[in-house]
Amino acid sequence: MASIPRRGLLAAGFTALAMPALPAAAMQRPGDRRRAIWIRNQAGEEVRAAYIRADGQVDWQVVARLQRVFRDLRQNATGPMPVLLLDKLGQIQGRWGFHRPLILLSGYRTPRTNSSLEGAARNSRHLEGQAADIQIPGVPPAQVAAVAAEVSRHNMFMGVGTYGGFVHVDIGPLRGWRGAAPATS
Ligand SMILES: [Zn+2]
Repeated sequence: MASIPRRGLLAAGFTALAMPALPAAAMQRPGDRRRAIWIRNQAGEEVRAAYIRADGQVDWQVVARLQRVFRDLRQNATGPMPVLLLDKLGQIQGRWGFHRPLILLSGYRTPRTNSSLEGAARNSRHLEGQAADIQIPGVPPAQVAAVAAEVSRHNMFMGVGTYGGFVHVDIGPLRGWRGAAPATS
């Protein structure tokens, strides 16, 4: 799965991408167990690929690329990249048919970065690589949060925090909040 050059993406516009790298039809073929995600970080780095292959096995090379996209950009430090978090983010993204990237505002955080962020919980799940702060271009955060909350309720776990400009998603216990974060966001 070659990633699309950023220039091309910008030229096409976020909503006008006519040729997804992962054709939806192929992903729905019976027996095809592929799971994909399309995510872009604040440095403009992105991965648009299947991290679970058609045979159901994890593609660790793709996970390693995702781990890098999820890294703490301030410290240039990579952390854990739980496949479970990718699954939940992919389920949220899938509601929009993978036509829009997930914009990652914050993934893994080092303790140093976390303590420098105003309002960040001291024992944030970002420290374990278990959380992502996301946006979807052209979709109001409240709408992203509603889908995330639905996925969360269905799974009986996950934290979903709704903020003005983004949604926090983590793979901790079932929780939901608005604005100010509880103890472990
Ligand atoms: Zn967060």
